[in-house]
Amino acid sequence: MAAVVMDGKALAAEMKEQVRLRTEQMTRRPGMAVVLVGEDPAALAYEAGKRKDCQACGIYYDTFRLPSEVCQEDLLGVIDTLNRREDIDGILLLLPLPGHLDEKAALLAIRPDKDVDCVNPANLGQLLLGGGSLRPCTPAGVMRLLEAYHIDPAGKRCVVVGRSHVVGKPQALLLLEKNGTVTICHSRTPDLAAECRRADILVSAAGRPGLITGDMVKEGAVVIDVAMNRNAQGKLCGDVDYEAAAEKAAWITPVPGGTGPVTRAVLMEQVLSAALDHGKG
Ligand code: NAP
Repeated sequence: MAAVVMDGKALAAEMKEQVRLRTEQMTRRPGMAVVLVGEDPAALAYEAGKRKDCQACGIYYDTFRLPSEVCQEDLLGVIDTLNRREDIDGILLLLPLPGHLDEKAALLAIRPDKDVDCVNPANLGQLLLGGGSLRPCTPAGVMRLLEAYHIDPAGKRCVVVGRSHVVGKPQALLLLEKNGTVTICHSRTPDLAAECRRADILVSAAGRPGLITGDMVKEGAVVIDVAMNRNAQGKLCGDVDYEAAAEKAAWITPVPGGTGPVTRAVLMEQVLSAALDHGKG
C-alpha cells in the first residue's frame, strides 16, 4: 500500500494565512513574547522561527533573552511584566531552564489566558476536564492534521508512544476527547511492538530514531511521527523508519514537513485566539 503523505507544511501555510487575514482586519494587533534563558543554539534557532512566524502572521513580537545565570526572582519579574503588558497576548517560556531555576514555579507564573502553549497546570487541568481554549501546540497540531485528512479517531485504537507533559499525555487526552480508545506507551512498556501493531492511529513522540520499524505498523494504519531527532549523519529524522512504515500505512507524516510546521501554526492561532479573548479586534 502506498501511504498518503500528510503534508504538514501545506496545512501550516494555510493556517498561518488564515491568521494573517484575520490580524489584518484588527485595529489592535495580537502580540507574543518569547522568554529565552541562556544561549543554547537550538533554542536560539527556535526563537528565530517564532519571530519569523509572527512577522508572517501580522503578530507583534518581542523577545527577552536572559543570561543563563539569571536568578529566579528576575525571571519571575520578566514574566510578571509580560503578564501585565496589554500589547502581549501570549507568552512562551522556552524550556528546559538551567538547573538552578524552578521550572514549575516559572510555568505557574504565566497568566493562564496568556499561556499559549498550555504549560500552566491550570490550563492542563482544563484540558483534563475537556475545556479551555488553549491547547498544547504539538498535540493540538496532530489533531489538526487528522482533521485535515478526514481521519476521525472515534472508535479507533490509538497508541501514543511517549508520556511527557508537553506531547504524550496531552496527545492521549485529545485523542480520548475525540473518542479514540487510547493506549500510552513509554520506556517501561514490555512489548512496544505488539502495542504498536494494534494501532489504527500510531503517534510516536519518544525522541528515538528508528524506534518504530515497519513490522510494528499495522496494515492501513495512520502513522504520525512527532519526534525531531538528528540521525548519525546529523539529518533531521523522526522515530519512525519512514520508508518501511510507508509501505504498510495508509497515511503517514514525513519528518521534516509533518507535525513540526503545524505545531508552529497552532501557536500562531492560539496567540490570535488569546488576543480575541483579550478584547482585541
Ligand atoms: P521526552 O520528555 O524526552 O519524552 C519522551 C518519552 O518517550 C518518554 O515518555 C519516554 O518514556 C518515552 N520513550 C523513550 N524511549 C522509549 C522507548 N525506547 N520505548 C518507548 N518509549 C520511550 O520528550 P518530548 O518532549 O515529549 O518530545 C518527544 C519528541 O518529540 C522529541 O523528539 C522532540 O524533539 C519532539 N517534539 C516535536 C515537536 C513538534 O513540533 N513536532 C514538539 C515537541 C517535541 P519514559 O517516560 O518512560 O522515560
